[in-house]
Amino acid sequence: MATMQEPILLDRPDAPLVGGYEVIIGFETHAQLSTQSKIFSRASTAFGAEPNTQACAVDLALPGTLPVMNKGAVERAIEFGLAVNSHIAEKSVFARKNYFYPDLPKGYQISQFEIPVVQGGTVEFFLNEKKMSVRLVRAHLEEDAGKSLHEDFIGQSGIDLNRAGTPLLEIVTEPDMRSSAEAVAYAKELHKIVTWIGICDGNMQEGSFRCDANVSVRKPGGKLGTRREIKNLNSFKFMQQAIDYEVRWQIEQIEDGHKIQQATVLFNPDTGETRAMRTKEDAADYRYFPDPDLPPLCIAREWVEKVRSEMAELPRAMAARFERDYGLGEYDATQLTQSLALSAYFEAVTKACGQAKLASNWITGELARRLNAQDLSIEQTPVKAGTLAALISRISDGTISNNAARQVMDALWEDASASVDAIIEAKGLKQMNDSGALEKIVDDVLAANAKNVAEFRGGNEKALNGLVGQIMKASKGKANPQQVNDLLRAKLV
Ligand code: ADP
Ligand code: MG
Repeated sequence: MATMQEPILLDRPDAPLVGGYEVIIGFETHAQLSTQSKIFSRASTAFGAEPNTQACAVDLALPGTLPVMNKGAVERAIEFGLAVNSHIAEKSVFARKNYFYPDLPKGYQISQFEIPVVQGGTVEFFLNEKKMSVRLVRAHLEEDAGKSLHEDFIGQSGIDLNRAGTPLLEIVTEPDMRSSAEAVAYAKELHKIVTWIGICDGNMQEGSFRCDANVSVRKPGGKLGTRREIKNLNSFKFMQQAIDYEVRWQIEQIEDGHKIQQATVLFNPDTGETRAMRTKEDAADYRYFPDPDLPPLCIAREWVEKVRSEMAELPRAMAARFERDYGLGEYDATQLTQSLALSAYFEAVTKACGQAKLASNWITGELARRLNAQDLSIEQTPVKAGTLAALISRISDGTISNNAARQVMDALWEDASASVDAIIEAKGLKQMNDSGALEKIVDDVLAANAKNVAEFRGGNEKALNGLVGQIMKASKGKANPQQVNDLLRAKLV
């Protein structure tokens, strides 16, 4: 969708360069809205039905039919705008985008052009612990087209109009991203937002969340390069591969003295290459004009406020609350609000053990590492919140060390039905809490290491580490390191 003005580029001296070039990326994302019926008709939006069984007279563009706005689609657009701090237009306008294609029976797509419903906004996320922010230009409502099926019939194409009229929210960014990694991090964050607020099911395989990446390269500080638009990226992995390939291709072209032609390209996952499918249309080619069949979309402030008051806590607000109420850092709080399920897991663990910081460390560390290794989501974790809380309680009450706790976690991972205390018992992981026994070990180690003792007394703090190490070893790792430290210092002063 064209905005027609030259974008105002952010100054990004930190931007990584590829072969001396700065990469500039802007995204257009089509999020299919989770309404039961279509945006302008009462036909069902359910995925996977027999071709053309879910296209009514309006979707087929039969003469005499008129579009009727789906209130649920508008409400979802408002929810999105509120989630990303956009302005919700009091009055926006539907326009006809005219083009000819067999899967577009009306000969035009109803979209929004000059005045979209959602204006501005920002999407914030972390990339390698660094906070990033991508500005949104707009998000507008539009209908999806049907599908051409080229594979089912030899020498012919089939048309399935089930998807025609499915509500979409097209979300357009400023060209604020400077690498494929930033682009993927943005797309993941956007995906998180739309699924978190429940306006889109986020199913990328089924096409519910499709990204177009506009990519150009330039010498740092130079003139903005001509972009090529990679269409319909439907996995985060392909997104990264496609952008990386496109960047290398554009740089090669420029280095060889060629000019980049504005174009729409497709990524082929089998070859890992992008290929031009058509030279790019300009807005003028679409002959946009306001759709006379639909009145302007007027949204009363009261409605916006009602929607706002009924929305669940947003990830950013929840992260701020985690920082405030649980004393977590911004990064950890953001990690724990990657999904509703993860945030609920964290709160359940914390509630049960009363140790928010330990819970945060264990969930983002030991648990996340194990889940990632097996490609499991938090919903699939074998170690439930109550069990992790029990484990954390045994660390915080001094029964076991962190190190021993990791061994308990390993055992739980193998058999999630086992009890934390039973594992501690069976493996003999209890810390030595008998101070008499510990004191004897300390005395023995001090007697056998006169040199270290002398060094420490001579002011070498590091000599203490050697002693602690020996004591831990002598106790077979069961001594409490803090207790060992305290005992040693008491004896050595
Ligand atoms: P359309 O592609 O429909 O014509 P726009 O002109 O609004 O729509 O641009 C679409 C996207 O391309 C936006 O996300 C914008 O930030 C991005 N964009 C515009 N110019 C460039 C450029 N030179 N390099 C990279 N991205 C760009
Ligand atoms: Mg575009």
